[in-house]
Amino acid sequence: MARLVMKFGGTSVADIDRIRNVARHVKREVEAGYEVAVVVSAMSGKTNELVGWTRALAPMHDAREYDAVVASGEQVTSGLLAIALQEIGINARSWQGWQIPIKTDGAHGAARIVDIDGSKLVERLAQGQVAVIAGFQGIGPDNRIATLGRGGSDTSAVAIAAAIGAERCDIYTDVDGVYTTDPRIVPKAKRLDRVSYEEMLEMASLGAKVLQVRSVELAMVHGVRTFVRSSFDDPADPRLGDPRNPPGTLICDEDEIVEKQVVTGIAYSKDEAQISLREVADKPGVAAAVFVPLAEANINVDMIVQNVSEDGTTTDMTFTVPTTDFDRALKVLEGARAAIGYVNIQGSGDLVKVSVIGIGMRSHAGVAASAFKALASKGINIRAITTSEIKISILIDSAYAELAVRTLHSLYGLDAA
Ligand code: ASP
Ligand code: MG
Repeated sequence: MARLVMKFGGTSVADIDRIRNVARHVKREVEAGYEVAVVVSAMSGKTNELVGWTRALAPMHDAREYDAVVASGEQVTSGLLAIALQEIGINARSWQGWQIPIKTDGAHGAARIVDIDGSKLVERLAQGQVAVIAGFQGIGPDNRIATLGRGGSDTSAVAIAAAIGAERCDIYTDVDGVYTTDPRIVPKAKRLDRVSYEEMLEMASLGAKVLQVRSVELAMVHGVRTFVRSSFDDPADPRLGDPRNPPGTLICDEDEIVEKQVVTGIAYSKDEAQISLREVADKPGVAAAVFVPLAEANINVDMIVQNVSEDGTTTDMTFTVPTTDFDRALKVLEGARAAIGYVNIQGSGDLVKVSVIGIGMRSHAGVAASAFKALASKGINIRAITTSEIKISILIDSAYAELAVRTLHSLYGLDAA
């Protein structure tokens, strides 16, 4: 029989009524003939509350005890949903990460899954029992509970889908799919029917907050077809059970996408800061002198632009860091001034990165040129540009963010009619 993973996020299990509603979604799929493994988050707000308690006691708390505390939110919802399912006549039991087991590395608070033994789950599923699994948690090499980082139940769900060979991993959330851009900025944004893993990875890491980035990486590596859909739809709506065209967005291999758009979506990320080093000596080792100290200070550098120097003696180097690390980065670079040897340093803390994403770009010329032209016509100044095969990112002043997103969204024909 085909297996299905259904994952429900915090707003989908926010209270007892919502949990009853989730049970009805699960019942629908059981009745459609699937063996179902459910993965649940904590009730919305719960994890924040638990994190707050550990911080209140000690800001530099023991990470193993942090995990013991914050993993409890998911334990509660797994038990509650199992009860709700039993109440409507569905055979179900809860599973904690250690019971499966979901083995992780030892990085408490941000652990990575290293192995899932799906055999016990598969056995119970075959007996007709729904598995209700606590997301976000596993067991570390020290035999203690480890959590996967905020938003980690998406990753739990995809990893379990891979481990049990599920036909699909359905991610139920409070939106009904992935949109061409943020609908709060562009009300004409459209829901996408299909997005490739690569495109979704770009969108997720660029600020489209639907899925934890790591879950998309995992889905891509293991080829787990991941379907983003809403738990707020009526569980009895006949369209939801339609396997050909249920409402939502399928994240899948690009081979499954027949009509490849040149541009699939426009993503943006706020809180970017730019730093420019002027008249840096143009010789081997300079880039290392700049970026090694930043890496050692745990500052994540994103866009990097370096000029070719005219006379081969000095050059300019521009890059971006998160706004929250801006002041720290300036300090680190001032400290390393002698080693780097720049003449002056300039920075700007209030920028946004807008990105145009689409697998069709690989085979289409002129996408970047048309974007630059459209932005110029609106008087938007571009501070830096980076590109990959399927993405163009531009750095602009934050005051122009919405105008830029709207302009590019219409330019590539993404506006709904
Ligand atoms: N409850 C955890 C969090 O809020 C994990 C999740 O919901 O994905 O980060
Ligand atoms: Mg989430």
